[in-house]
Amino acid sequence: MPALPTTASGSGGSAPQVHHDTVAARTVFVAPERAERPDDADLAGAGRAAGSTTPRDWCPFCVGNESRTPPAVLRAPRDEALPWQARIVPNLFPFTVNTALPAAALPTAGPPHQPLTAASRRPAHGVHDVVIESAAHESSVLAVPPAAWREVWELVRRRLEELAGRADLAWAMVFKNSGPRAGASLAHLHSQLVALDFTPPVIATELAAAATTPAPFTRLLEEARTGGRVVAERGGLVALVPPAPRQPFETWILPQGPRTFFHEAPAADVAALADLTQWFVARLGRLAPEADYNWWLHQPPFRVPSGQAAPDTADWHWHLEILPRLAHFAGFELGTGCHVTTVSPADSARMLRDT
Ligand SMILES: [Zn+2]
Ligand SMILES: [Zn+2]
Repeated sequence: MPALPTTASGSGGSAPQVHHDTVAARTVFVAPERAERPDDADLAGAGRAAGSTTPRDWCPFCVGNESRTPPAVLRAPRDEALPWQARIVPNLFPFTVNTALPAAALPTAGPPHQPLTAASRRPAHGVHDVVIESAAHESSVLAVPPAAWREVWELVRRRLEELAGRADLAWAMVFKNSGPRAGASLAHLHSQLVALDFTPPVIATELAAAATTPAPFTRLLEEARTGGRVVAERGGLVALVPPAPRQPFETWILPQGPRTFFHEAPAADVAALADLTQWFVARLGRLAPEADYNWWLHQPPFRVPSGQAAPDTADWHWHLEILPRLAHFAGFELGTGCHVTTVSPADSARMLRDT
């Protein structure tokens, strides 16, 4: 990306702010300092200039370079006498500000679950972590041994559990950008974890839809079974192609039965999620070699501002949405919120099963 002007000076400071547009019902984090974050090419170039030859010389996520990130908030294994396999660190270029002393409560302005509309901008309070998923300089989740990959997901679960306990946070998500088309700037295997003090619009929309549909996730699962869109099952989890996938092979992974929060998932489900994500990436690699993808974990808010009714989550299932990035989102997608895809959901599911 070309160098962009930033608003880091002369506009009242550069701490991240969250802006809300009431006409577009859109929320934007304005974080000028993120323009300074380096990508692999910047880091490798600086490394070469200093005489280095391997990523381990310059990559901030490689083992041995722990001083280039803030100290870990969690690591696996827990025993610090053992070498780490995965670690969670605060993002050096966050789009939220994690204040040292959590505020006592959530902001209360605005309609239920979206406490932003009354104030068009305010400080972006929250947590923005990086989950470094391998000590070695690997870029594919398939390079991590299955047992170690399960430990990564358990580490994420523990961090989400910690954040759900904070009175100043409403909601949290882990997400992965794998490959440049999916928005990754560093190749070394990692995900990001965010926690916010409000419920973001996509989740508010899912909650509103769920409130008008009896047993929405039970129905989603039943229709996937009758429609031939279940692609894999492990333990208590199901991987399915959703009814309106945005891209070929879009897949969601969720528990068979109602389970609101991933951080409350039993160990067997955490392990099954790890296994299914590796299974999916292997299948996607066969169907569309080198395909980039995103995934993100959806769950409802774990806290709403005082005075607001908690959403009805009786039939909520946390779910991981995995979106291959095979086609660009272009004018129609950006202008309407609708998508065009070239492969039917049932065909996507059949190819994922049979490949
Ligand atoms: Zn690395
Ligand atoms: Zn969702």
